[in-house]
Amino acid sequence: MKITALNGFKDIVPGEVELWQQVEDTARDIFARFNFSEIRMPILEKTDLFARSIGEATDIVEKEMYTFVDKQITMRPEATASLLRAYIQHGLHVQKPVQRLFTIGPMFRHERPQKGRLRQFHQMDAEVLGTPNPRVDAEVMAMGAMLLKELGINVSLEMNSLGCPVCRPGFRETPLTFIEDRKDALCDDCARRSKTNPLRVLDCKNPKCREQVEEAPSILEHLCNDCDEHFEAVQKGLQQLGVQYSLNKFMVRGLDYYTRTTFEFITKDLGAQAAVGAGGRYDGLVEKLGGPKVPGIGFAIGMERLVLLLQQQEETEIEPNGIDIFVAGLGEKASEFAFSLVHSLRQQGMHTAMDHEGRSLKSQMKQANKVHAGYVLIIGENELDQGQAMLRNMENLATSHGWRWPGYQGRRRRCPSRAALFCAGFKLWK
Ligand code: ATP
Ligand code: MG
Repeated sequence: MKITALNGFKDIVPGEVELWQQVEDTARDIFARFNFSEIRMPILEKTDLFARSIGEATDIVEKEMYTFVDKQITMRPEATASLLRAYIQHGLHVQKPVQRLFTIGPMFRHERPQKGRLRQFHQMDAEVLGTPNPRVDAEVMAMGAMLLKELGINVSLEMNSLGCPVCRPGFRETPLTFIEDRKDALCDDCARRSKTNPLRVLDCKNPKCREQVEEAPSILEHLCNDCDEHFEAVQKGLQQLGVQYSLNKFMVRGLDYYTRTTFEFITKDLGAQAAVGAGGRYDGLVEKLGGPKVPGIGFAIGMERLVLLLQQQEETEIEPNGIDIFVAGLGEKASEFAFSLVHSLRQQGMHTAMDHEGRSLKSQMKQANKVHAGYVLIIGENELDQGQAMLRNMENLATSHGWRWPGYQGRRRRCPSRAALFCAGFKLWK
């Protein structure tokens, strides 16, 4: 019987993986422009880390986590909690008062798999720890917007403020009464949430609930002075950087740790899976996890949704990871020679391949095409004896014979130097 991957878990195979690599390359470039350093954390953490940070009464902790119950460990459902755990554990705040960190990797949530929603999915996550400055909120959102824009993805940025421990508790009561009054008209999830996590009802995606909460009071009208000033400054920062945004007074986010600024990058092109990325400020969280009293802000962008959006766009071009040169040896003696020549070229940094099956020239040329070789070096027995070979440029199909390699233009991505090819041949050849 054939064994297949688990439902909600997906392979990323050659042909598709190139798009992932392009996304990652762009992300790394943008993160570097904003002076972020990479950090990598393990996938397994103590369950308590997520319960304490994301919140006991959230969808993630209540029903989406992959937990080894007997061992009390969980496969991370998101990156922020693990990143903060690492930040605290290694005292990174001592090394640098403001840390700008990013991480890219798989996350795990037990959800119903559908388009843009998997059980193992990948996030690109960026966090700034150690500054409460509202300019940094704007900078972080601008970074996410720049990343999505450079990838060619069209999103809108929606933003809200959730206030802080000073103003939020007072506000909780207002929507509570409002929601309590409409409890019977809400979806089952929200009927339950109306007791455990009433603010979540405000951003339920169910149309039934949306209609009910349309007139609900907004926390934006109840922010304390500090939060209000912060929110104003964030908006001023976004305007200064030319980042388009709109306010969404019902955005609550599904994680309890957020304070003040929250935001989502939204697409219209993925049906119900509208959020491509999301984030916000979490000023009390590091302390809550046993660390120093430092504020933080960050976001996570879902890579599956990015890749889906790119695949949907006609102009997306997957650039194959070609090789520089394919060495075609004809016959055993030439193949033996090719074997060491290929190794020598690789030592010199060239992306090189050859055939080990003793195939015909025609079939080797086909192989060379398949691996998108820039050049093919053809060595037959006669050529070998005469110390010659034929170099074929696969882009314009020009062929040259003999020792002197023609000017090597190289491929778009990597170009081996003519000198390297020449030296490799020179050293090995007689
Ligand atoms: P959603 O509302 O779609 O469930 P979320 O609020 O749970 O999203 P976050 O926890 O904020 O999402 O994660 C940030 C990003 O990670 C999302 O915007 C999305 O792109 C991606 N993401 C979240 N869950 C999944 C999943 N199960 N499969 C694929 N991508 C996901
Ligand atoms: Mg979710």
